[in-house]
Amino acid sequence: MSGNMQFNLSGKTAIITGAASGIGRAIAEAYARAGAGVAIADLNEAGAEVVAKAINAAGGKAMGVSMDVTDETSVNTATDRVVGALGPIDILVSNAGIQIVNPIETYNFSDWKKMLAIHMDGAFLTTKAALKSMYAEHRGGVVIYMGSVHSHEASKLKSAYVAAKHGLLGLARVLAKEGGPKGVRSHVICPGFVRTPLVEKQIPEQARKLQISEQEVIRNVMLKDTVDAEFTTVEDVANLALLLAAFPSAALTGQSLVVSHGWYMG
Ligand code: NAD
Repeated sequence: MSGNMQFNLSGKTAIITGAASGIGRAIAEAYARAGAGVAIADLNEAGAEVVAKAINAAGGKAMGVSMDVTDETSVNTATDRVVGALGPIDILVSNAGIQIVNPIETYNFSDWKKMLAIHMDGAFLTTKAALKSMYAEHRGGVVIYMGSVHSHEASKLKSAYVAAKHGLLGLARVLAKEGGPKGVRSHVICPGFVRTPLVEKQIPEQARKLQISEQEVIRNVMLKDTVDAEFTTVEDVANLALLLAAFPSAALTGQSLVVSHGWYMG
């Protein structure tokens, strides 16, 4: 029996990477409102502290923690600190990410490696660290990867991003199989365009590289295939992350859920 669904995360501990900004911040705030203790893990330590302070001031339980998701020692040290302060990890949201756009022929190999390090190595290292808590005494848990519509679709200029975001589907599916018998579920959330700093930076860059106006980037590139020409919001993504974290059984695992105003309907 899995029981009725309640969006209650009381007594749970969550690590959200890249939560000093954008989507990760909104997820941390939603989880804290649902009662979880949340760790704001980010390369931007000062930013993580600001978010943690705001959550604590609003009555939640949060800590900021410095973490570079591409560095194994940093991931393990930060995760141990969180376990020490908030308890074993029940929920990991592997969300930290950046964007570098360029056509393949001029895409620097160093940029390619940086993109894969943040999106793929980061997902692997944070998962491995969180599983220590989740596999101990059959505690179980949930791992949510921040994919993208680009886990399913391609766009020009985004070779490394699209390759990495597709790769997360594979990692999530392997984890669903390996973790299933140990009570660990995994999912990939695939948002359409959300107006965070990551996207604001891309609008003028894409306009320059595609030689079109910024309005055209928004209308003809970013929102072209949505059903209503609307951006997805950080709250939309956070609501889905809350549903996936709170889902009461392993009936829902290994899935990729797309929140994109109908851009991708596969
Ligand atoms: P954002 O730029 O607002 O936030 C990203 C955060 O990640 C920042 O706080 C940054 O400091 C942190 N970060 C970067 N490198 C890091 C590292 N090595 N270690 C730890 N933290 C690091 O971006 P966002 O739009 O909120 O993106 C969050 C995730 O959502 C990314 O994985 C992104 O690919 C994905 N996503 C974003 C959109 C969108 O339209 N914004 C759409 C689909 C998917």
